[in-house]
This record gives sequence, C-alpha cells and structure tokens, in this order.
Amino acid sequence: EVVTRFAPSPTGALHIGGARTALFNWLYARGRGGRFLLRIEDTDRARSTDENHQAILDGLSWLGLDWDGEPLSQATRADRHAEVAHALLARGRAFRCYSTQDEIEAFREQARERGQSTLFRSPWREIPEDQHPDAPFVIRLKVPREGATTVRDEVQGDVTWQNDQIDDLVLLRSDGSPVYMLAVVVDDHDMGVTHVIRGDDHLANAIRQTLIYEAMDWRVPVMAHVPLIFGPDGKKLSKRHGATGAAEYRAMGYPAAGMRNYLTRLGWSHGDAEYFTDSEAREWFDLRGIGKSPARFDMKKLENLCGQHIAAAEDAALLHELEGYLAAAGRSPLTDAQRDGLSRGMYCLKERAKTFPELLEKAHFILADRPLDPDGAAKSALDPVSRGILSELTPHLQTASWTREDLEAAANAVAAANGTKFGKLAGPLRAALAGRTVTPSVFDMMLVLGREETVARIADAAA
Ligand code: GLU
Repeated sequence: EVVTRFAPSPTGALHIGGARTALFNWLYARGRGGRFLLRIEDTDRARSTDENHQAILDGLSWLGLDWDGEPLSQATRADRHAEVAHALLARGRAFRCYSTQDEIEAFREQARERGQSTLFRSPWREIPEDQHPDAPFVIRLKVPREGATTVRDEVQGDVTWQNDQIDDLVLLRSDGSPVYMLAVVVDDHDMGVTHVIRGDDHLANAIRQTLIYEAMDWRVPVMAHVPLIFGPDGKKLSKRHGATGAAEYRAMGYPAAGMRNYLTRLGWSHGDAEYFTDSEAREWFDLRGIGKSPARFDMKKLENLCGQHIAAAEDAALLHELEGYLAAAGRSPLTDAQRDGLSRGMYCLKERAKTFPELLEKAHFILADRPLDPDGAAKSALDPVSRGILSELTPHLQTASWTREDLEAAANAVAAANGTKFGKLAGPLRAALAGRTVTPSVFDMMLVLGREETVARIADAAA
C-alpha cells in the first residue's frame, strides 16, 4: 500500500509551495488507492500557533485535499523519539557524547588552524562506556567512517555523500529532547510512510535521515525531492512576487479546481496537457513527470486554467463554491432570491469568468435590486432616443413567448422599425437591464430575469 504524508510546520500559514507539496502527496496516494496522512511538525513551541495549525487545515480543505485519520502532532511523540535514540545506543549505532559546547568550539578552532575538516569528531565515540562520567550527555549517531550513503531520489537521481564527510549528528539533546532529524524518521517509520515527496530544500536532510533508517534497519521510503517554486524572475517565490499564501488565493476568488490544476502543473507535466480534470490528474500523476528544474509561478496561466474550470463546473457546485468564497472573503451571504437567480443564471455567468469576483461582476444584474443604480456608462447609453426605442419594445415583450428566438425576433423587429440594427439597441438594453454596459448577453439576462422583472426594468429606464 502507498502511504504518503504532508508534514507542515505550523510556524506560518499554508504557503503555495506547501500546498503544492501536499497536493503531490495527495495525488500520488489517491491515484493508487493509498493513504494520505497529515503530520503537524509542531516541535518549535515558540513559533507554532493554533491559528497557523488551523489555517493549514483550512487551506487543505479548501483545496479538497482530504487526509486519512487524525493529524499527528509531532510534539506529542517526544518519548517515542527518545526511545529510538536509546534503541540506537543499545544497538551500538549511537553513542553518548559528553563534550561541552566549549570543547566543540575549541576542536573546530584547532581544525581551522590546521586546515583540517571542521566536522566535529567526538572523542567519546571510542571511549568505552565504563569509563563514561556521570554528567550530562547528548546521544549522537555513529555514522560509518567508511563508504558512502546514497539517496535514490526519484527526481534528482542518485545523490551520494561520502560518509567521512558527515558528522555524527546529535539525535537527543542533553535535556532528553529529540532533534528534528530523528523525529522525522521515527514518525515516517511509525506512520508507515512509503513515499516521501517534499521540497528539495530537504535533500541534504535526506542523507542524514537515510543513515538513521539504516542504523535502525528500517526500510527507507521512496524519496522525491521537488524543486522549489520560483517567481517569474527566476528567484525563489516570495512576497516580492505577490501573494504566496493559499488563503490569499482563496480570498482573491480563484476556484479550488483551477488552483489544483495549476499547482499540479507547477513542476509536473504529462505530455502537453495543461487543462485536466481531477480524475485525470489522479490517474496521470507520477513521480517521473516531476521536472528537475524549478517551475516559475505564472499568474496568467493560473487565471486561464481557473477560467476553464469555472466554465466546466456544474452550476450547483459552482454556486456552492461561490457561497464559500463569499464567506471566506467576509462578504455578506446570499439571500434566497439571489441564490435562485444565480442558480438560474449560472449557465451564462460562468463563461469567461476567471475568478469569483469576475463572476459576481457579471451577476450584478441578478444581485442588484430595482430601482437599479446605473453607472456612468449605463447612464450615457440611455440617451432620450434610446429610451424611446426601448419603450417600444415593451408591448412586444408582453406578448412574446419567453424563448431566446422570440426575444431576438422582438428586438430585431423594434430595431428594424426604427431603421437601425439590433446592435444599436444592445447597449441601452444592457444599461436598462443591469445598470451596467458590460454584462452577459441581453437575451440571457431577459431569460434569467423573467418577463415581469424585464418589463419593469425597461419601464424604469425609459421613464
Ligand atoms: N516540516 C517540514 C517543512 O515544513 C517538512 C519536513 C518533511 O517533509 O520531511 O518544511
């Protein structure tokens, strides 16, 4: 069984890079009938907050990345981590080190002077236990001096370090608390994680983690270290490039499906596929498709994909997500009448909207109440001549069967009677129906508004 995990530190909200890491792990597991687990790496008590913890869960939920079971808190597992450090001692794969910080500094100083490696070599590694003092100690891993350690990375290929270039890292501090490197290995092992997919800023850690796995005779999970995300200028994505938090994208009104599609493509490819559905993503996602060089964040592409996903979404699902957006953006909830109108009009609103704010802009004719408050462009479109022509339309509308064909015929007849084309009538009609000049098509608006409301708005505008 495939088991992946996402292991965020709640020292910040969910970053776009973290969201992508979570998404890759989720896709990999879900595409293989596996499990996707969550571990909150909350050992940095000072910087971890409940708000960040919650924001991470909210961000994942927004993106539809459901996890299996309860999130595991790393901080609650310190005893288990210590137990493994002691197990390594018992196996002769770790040792107690009594060197003080001053001694370690002095060692490094000397090494520098002699032009030798400053990797700390503890004398205690070789001193038999019966000669150990009764003093505070740390537990260090006994890294083999011979040979080399290789991470068989699915993205980066084989990454090999000579063991004599690696220090005997501390596993357990003198106060008995575990170091991060140990905690990650023990947790991944105990959670049964089979595949570790994460940012390539953890590649150097992977070597040391591999040494810990090997010292415990544990199976090393498959590793895939994904290049970080860059901004359009080729530098690591940061605030300078704009929004970096998942929640910010939610608040800007990007739909989750478009975001998922875009983030999936950010560093992963499947032929030349750009737009794809969730089930295609689950079916296609693999580690081979992850690129070796950093992907650049491209707002245009994100918007383009979001537009396609909005257009392709089912009306009811889109309305539901729109209501979620309104809540997340702190905007007032829909009235029943607005919800009904949106649900009738969604088929035309979702064309060419890349975000929920754009969709709401197009929905103005539904959300606004009579009397409308026309904007400047709408006011100037409603000149006296146009208002006159509009009022001629009313009798036709009162008898027309409320179909697109009949409405078009009515509009064309009135235009022809005035020696003009329907195109000339469209602007004033938009202004009358929406109080705006950029709107869905006038016939869609009429169909959504219904006869009574349409006639009333035209009467308002013609008055
Ligand atoms: N907590 C680490 C981070 O947020 C992830 C560690 C890991 O995936 O192994 O970068």
